[in-house]
Amino acid sequence: MKILVPVKRVVDYNVNIRVKADGSGVDLANVKMSMNPFDEIAVEEALRLREAGAASEVVAVSIGPKEAQETVRTALAMGADRGIVLEAEGNVEPLAVAKLLKAIVAEEAPGLVILGKQAIDDDSNQTGQMLAALLGWPQGTFASKLVLADSGIEVTREVDGGLQTVRLALPAIITADLRLNEPRYASLPNIMKAKKKPIDFRPAAQYGVDLTPRLTVLKTAEPPARPAGRRLASVAELVDRLKTEAGVL
Ligand code: AMP
Repeated sequence: MKILVPVKRVVDYNVNIRVKADGSGVDLANVKMSMNPFDEIAVEEALRLREAGAASEVVAVSIGPKEAQETVRTALAMGADRGIVLEAEGNVEPLAVAKLLKAIVAEEAPGLVILGKQAIDDDSNQTGQMLAALLGWPQGTFASKLVLADSGIEVTREVDGGLQTVRLALPAIITADLRLNEPRYASLPNIMKAKKKPIDFRPAAQYGVDLTPRLTVLKTAEPPARPAGRRLASVAELVDRLKTEAGVL
């Protein structure tokens, strides 16, 4: 079975992001970019399934500018077998990403597609669900555990108030939650080896998907600055402040 893992290039989660002065978006000039953290978890899970003998090949795919190859290269350094970059400039919204992924699924015929549950730049949490709908495949979203069983897959999902386990027939779509695993670091030898692994570049335009954004960003603003913390002298004072200042008691 082949596993397809879509990996998105996003602003590194450690970066203190700056909003552009005109409020039109986040300033990306000279900012460190990395693989979306949930996609690292998705790659790790695919590698574990391959290492357990349940999958034969892990293919990473990214949609974005030419630099998205760095993200695919990271997946290859972690252990993915090969990569695909669909080149597209500008913001490609989740529906267009899902349509492009559907085209890649038609070419590659994977048994599983494991995505991140959300991209930390747009926080959409849509692509996996849209891809499942477009393909008519079952979806196990917010997965915190995967077990392949009887030609299907059991997915433990984080839901309000607990964990739910569902069984899906294959082929299926999975979206990875934070607690699915702890992704490995790429070792130096594997980073070197990854340089020789194949990446297939294609213009996203060749798939005939309309990439025009449907949303217009009206405004992007920094969150209000948080007031500094205060040290109080006693529990009694804390209770008093919670009553009189915060009004929560
Ligand atoms: P989103 O729906 O934008 O929150 O993204 C959810 C997941 O879809 C991500 O964690 C990725 O696995 C995948 N994804 C979204 N955008 C892209 C992209 N441009 N290239 C590759 N994968 C993507």
